Amino acid sequence: MEPDIYFMPLGGGQRVGASCYYLRLGECNLILDAGTGKEKGLVFEPDLHSLVTTPFLQSVGQIQQIYISHAHADHVGYLPELMNMASMAEIYMTELTALLSSYQLYDRPYLSIVAKKEQGPGKGGRNRKEQRLEDKRLETRYRLDQITTVSYLQKMDFGRYQVTFLPAGHIPGAMMMLFTCGKRKILYTGDYSLEGTPLTDGCMIPDGLAVDTVILCGLHARQPQYAKRADCLSKTAQEVLALAQQSKLPVMCRVPQLSKGIEFIRALNEWNVWQIPVYIDPSVMEIAARMEQLSVPVLSSRDRIMGVQMPQGHHIYVTSNGTSGRCKDYQKVNVDFCLHEDFPEMKKFLKQLNPRQAVIVHCAGEISPSGQTIEQVLMNDPECRTQFLFAEERELYQL
Ligand SMILES: [Zn+2]
Repeated sequence: MEPDIYFMPLGGGQRVGASCYYLRLGECNLILDAGTGKEKGLVFEPDLHSLVTTPFLQSVGQIQQIYISHAHADHVGYLPELMNMASMAEIYMTELTALLSSYQLYDRPYLSIVAKKEQGPGKGGRNRKEQRLEDKRLETRYRLDQITTVSYLQKMDFGRYQVTFLPAGHIPGAMMMLFTCGKRKILYTGDYSLEGTPLTDGCMIPDGLAVDTVILCGLHARQPQYAKRADCLSKTAQEVLALAQQSKLPVMCRVPQLSKGIEFIRALNEWNVWQIPVYIDPSVMEIAARMEQLSVPVLSSRDRIMGVQMPQGHHIYVTSNGTSGRCKDYQKVNVDFCLHEDFPEMKKFLKQLNPRQAVIVHCAGEISPSGQTIEQVLMNDPECRTQFLFAEERELYQL
């Protein structure tokens, strides 16, 4: 008899943030990703307690394996809490994801306290909030020491199911997970991109792979009008460099995420024919330096860390920290671009896989003006055999 397969979004269903999904393969209980989300400045978390509303689990402690697709906070930010609840679970991610996650989860909060202390008047001693953050940092570091790192194309056999890890594109270290359970093949994409970026190639799907179910992070599944410009990042880098070359003022570039910061620095370095010095804020620099340690080239010899002393003369400053009062005399540019798939890429991806079933999660809520979802668009395709399910949080689905 074929094993039963169940799925429940605990967060990150039909919204972006707090991605966390329960997958039951036969008798095995797994979690895919453990993120936090942010809405109007407030952090929200996945609802792990809805697990015990299923007939399969009496406590979160019965989770056996946890897989983390990549190091963005909306996929990994909740991991320390989840590890507390599921203390017996084994945790798997790539080495790069582990490295970037350790920065996201414990070094970054710690460094921000240190930076604030250096800037603000010394009160002496630690207040309670700082002590709590420091305790959390130490605990998270201890927990992250327990994870298992995996490589692309590595296959693991847990008896009742097997899993293979595939490159997902999107950001360095991101992986998809291909599960085989009985005769069924289930692919969880995490965030993915078909096209490469300056720091990573696009996702890799083995030729001829027959997937029955794809659990798809379909950010733009309701937005057929959303198509990104393929050259957006290099074009922005070239525009910023031209501006810095012509302008009398130095140029400050604000990027909304650390991983976008490092992509942008890589692109600047690729096009910097004028050899303009690039200053980088400490948190972006820290992560760039760590990636270099794992042989992902980001920096060039012109890159400098932004210290307490403001640099003089012609330069570009890249920061992910928003406005800084001390940057009054800069020309400010907001730099943003998409590391996700766009609608045409998603369509191409689904047409290529042509799965029997597509479970759409991590889906931005806004309905496009034309009102068409990926399901409605592919419905008109005579070759498409896919049935769609836009999975809601806290609902249990038999796949
Ligand atoms: Zn992501």
